[in-house]
Amino acid sequence: MTRINPGSTIGIMGGGQLGRMLALAAANLGYRCHIFCPDERSPAFQVAHDVTIADYSDEKALTAFAQSVDVATYEFENVPALTAEIVSRETLLRPGARALQVSQDRLHEKDFLTESGVKTAPYVAFESEAELQEAIKKIGRPAVAKTRRFGYDGKGQVMIKNRADIDKVLDVTGGAPAILEGFVNFDREISVVVARSASGDVAAFPVGENVHSNHVLDTTDVPAQINDMVEAKAKVMATRIANSLEYVGVMGVEMFVNDGAGEIIVNEIAPRVHNSGHWTIEGAETSQFEQHIRAICDLPLGPTDARGRVHMKNLLGKEILEFDKYLADPKAHYHHYGKQDPRPGRKMGHVTWVNADED
Ligand code: AMP
Repeated sequence: MTRINPGSTIGIMGGGQLGRMLALAAANLGYRCHIFCPDERSPAFQVAHDVTIADYSDEKALTAFAQSVDVATYEFENVPALTAEIVSRETLLRPGARALQVSQDRLHEKDFLTESGVKTAPYVAFESEAELQEAIKKIGRPAVAKTRRFGYDGKGQVMIKNRADIDKVLDVTGGAPAILEGFVNFDREISVVVARSASGDVAAFPVGENVHSNHVLDTTDVPAQINDMVEAKAKVMATRIANSLEYVGVMGVEMFVNDGAGEIIVNEIAPRVHNSGHWTIEGAETSQFEQHIRAICDLPLGPTDARGRVHMKNLLGKEILEFDKYLADPKAHYHHYGKQDPRPGRKMGHVTWVNADED
């Protein structure tokens, strides 16, 4: 195992808020960060030691970036396979290419989860109208159609309840490879943020309970309203997934829970720090961002215990402008990602409360 000591340089592909919070955590441990991102207004650039503004297909820029760092990582799962390969030629890439390959394609992801012994919603792949009709016969209704690649926050998805919905599916998928999933009648959505270090140590954070609004994460609460058995089972599943991938870094595993049966169904995995883990910055003994840096540098993983009851709320669009309200609240920890344009629905920041009053 290669240990990367403080004082070294970490390369991060992607310059969004996740890259920014990773760079801040890395700086606290004495690392420098070099961020690679095509967008010159990237929030992570504001807090980094070095930046490269270039396209993910720019082999020369990628090679120079990789040669300037001691280990490279990423903050988004759609890093192209060729980009990962170019970087891997010159430096350590953690997590590795396999995590990207599995999580970039919903069919590969579901196949991998099933092989790992983890339950998913029933699914069938389709492309054409005829294949969609066959898939509906097998899965039944209601069902959810999702493009295999590049879907996030509900994009590229159609819920199929009635016949009229079927007509919408191919408009959304555009004939691109897709899957049809059975609709899961869940009681709650949870996620496990789990870390696995280069030496193979694994540590999961307490399970978070997530509420989405318009397919975008709105709030995360810890502890989740689940019993100890479900909590333990969720962590075991996330650990199994991380071990099966020989994963290095922090990963988010999204799950659906059926309270009555105590059943857990894995929805998807994100090979990166996760929005539902932002609560750990003030709410846990180690933040998910520091944990990711520890994991990829092969330092000992930090303790994951919660510091009490925690509530995290995303600030979307103009909500970021209500800072006076949050700054006047002694229990609120306000985070602004440094983005200029508060477009509706855009993730601009978040607020975390630890052990605040119930109301
Ligand atoms: P995804 O893009 O797969 O994370 O899906 C976004 C959201 O859509 C999830 O967080 C769920 O709230 C909902 N959803 C996705 N797939 C299903 C499903 N098979 N059954 C029920 N709800 C789903």
